[in-house]
Amino acid sequence: MNEIERETQFILKKYNIKANKSLGQNFLISEEVVNKIVESSNITKKDLVIEIGPGLGTLTKELLDSANKVICVELDKRMVEILKDRFKLYSNFELLNQDILKTDLKNIIEKEKQSKEIENVKIVANLPYYITTPIIMKLLEEKLDLESITVMIQKEVADRLTAIPGEKNTGAITYSVYYYAEAKEIMEVPSYSFIPEPEVTSEVIQLKVRKELKVKTQNEKMMFKIIKNSFTQRRKTLLNALTNTKIFKEKNTGIEILKKLNISENARAEELTLEQFAQIADEIS
Ligand code: SAM
Repeated sequence: MNEIERETQFILKKYNIKANKSLGQNFLISEEVVNKIVESSNITKKDLVIEIGPGLGTLTKELLDSANKVICVELDKRMVEILKDRFKLYSNFELLNQDILKTDLKNIIEKEKQSKEIENVKIVANLPYYITTPIIMKLLEEKLDLESITVMIQKEVADRLTAIPGEKNTGAITYSVYYYAEAKEIMEVPSYSFIPEPEVTSEVIQLKVRKELKVKTQNEKMMFKIIKNSFTQRRKTLLNALTNTKIFKEKNTGIEILKKLNISENARAEELTLEQFAQIADEIS
């Protein structure tokens, strides 16, 4: 048993608590993984780190030593009591007992960035898996002033998020992530690295948030609507999927638009690049 595992068992016993499955509580107990997450986040004393779901504070402890400030957002009151106790001597620790999906991150980041000491804001987390996608989409769609997002998620989702549009393993979410960020895989994490063990293999990924969006479109909303509708009917051709969902008013309009953009009438969603979806959106707009 390593030190992190001993410490985790000790805290769980001391406070007499069991992991709450419905809150996605799987506590990290691998030193190697904790070190890799912290090291790949490249944290300096000029960084504000926002940690989502700190749990018992395993990652938090390391983050507090490297960052200028760490703001943790944790929903479970029991964890909040433990964290307050554990880090009461740290002046750079702040804790919000909130649902991350309802947290006004834009406001928090704007306020913190007024301090001269903080240059970059980084998200680091071992995410609760039941809301992986909404959390990541919130972080990206709110166009927060973030440098990077380093998170542990299910491997299956990681594969989709780090895929390249037009290549294998893509879904609608691949295109959204690619629009806002550059994604890479950091390490695969077996289920025995947590207690309790999750039912799936995990992976740490990193999203470097783009300073400039990947493509330019006059109608971002329409572009994402097209992507979503094309992938909902991914077995159909793009032409049929977009005609069925009334994005192309008529099939003939669709044929004309695709012809103009040099896209085959038989193409399916996964064969398109993000630029091509942007072009379709612009044509429709
Ligand atoms: N960071 C800890 C670790 O690595 O051992 C715990 C990670 S655990 C996978 C996910 C954490 O997210 C839990 O502490 C859980 O209570 C918290 N959580 C679940 N839903 C949340 C939400 N909506 N907002 C904030 N935290 C949440």
